[in-house]
Amino acid sequence: MTNHRFFIQPDQISEGQVTICGPQARQICAVLRLHEGDEIGVLDGSGCCHIARIGSAKKDQVVAEITDTIAMQTESCVRLTLAQALTKHDKVELVVQKATELGISEMMVFTSERTVPRPAGDRIAHRLDRWRSIAREAAEQSNRASVPSVDGIISFGDLLRKAPDFDYSLIAWEDETGLLLHEALAKVQPGARVLYIVGPEGGFSRSEVTEAVSAGVVPISLGARTLRAETAAIAGCAVILHMMEG
Ligand code: SAH
Repeated sequence: MTNHRFFIQPDQISEGQVTICGPQARQICAVLRLHEGDEIGVLDGSGCCHIARIGSAKKDQVVAEITDTIAMQTESCVRLTLAQALTKHDKVELVVQKATELGISEMMVFTSERTVPRPAGDRIAHRLDRWRSIAREAAEQSNRASVPSVDGIISFGDLLRKAPDFDYSLIAWEDETGLLLHEALAKVQPGARVLYIVGPEGGFSRSEVTEAVSAGVVPISLGARTLRAETAAIAGCAVILHMMEG
């Protein structure tokens, strides 16, 4: 299958042809230097990849004819939502990229007591746009059939109010000494919706963890070593997806 895959909106396909405009058209022509006759893969979020042969390639519009449609088998049976606290040097970008490659379904970004950056309203919209395009590019690169949604920036309280929507909610707490992540996962049924919460550089306060427990969230440890927030997010997603898919 072609290595050049693009997520599009379903209405970009009409009568067996796909029309691509904007930055994706520029990417195809100016960056990848694809021409008439070259193949691309287009994903409309339906779980299929349409193989399409380019008929005309201009920097502002590429038109390609669909020649085949292949069902993708790359989506996880685990529906994992990663909730990541906003971090100082915007490590969120790295987390969005890597967690998308690993197979999360959804990402939420939240603020908590010890979150240092507090972006203003207009910056939030800009950040969200950027995170969403990173998720799309990572999903294209890792051959996924759908792009995880990225939402935020919500408060810790609002995040906890979403916990009842999940079958199982976990909070990575650096001071948890009892339950390890893999032990907690032994109780999770295949196909469950799981929420995994990771804190900021400064960690969670004890009162936040108490509040989370009251909301039905289970504190877990990732081991004796304290990890950076982005490591805790990426490593935790890898363990959850790996153990639950297996
Ligand atoms: N500043 C804190 C560490 C925060 S680490 C301290 O020095 O204690 C950032 C986040 O990563 C934490 O809030 C937690 O969600 C997660 N994390 C890091 N190491 C962890 C571990 N060993 N177990 C569980 N969660 C961990």
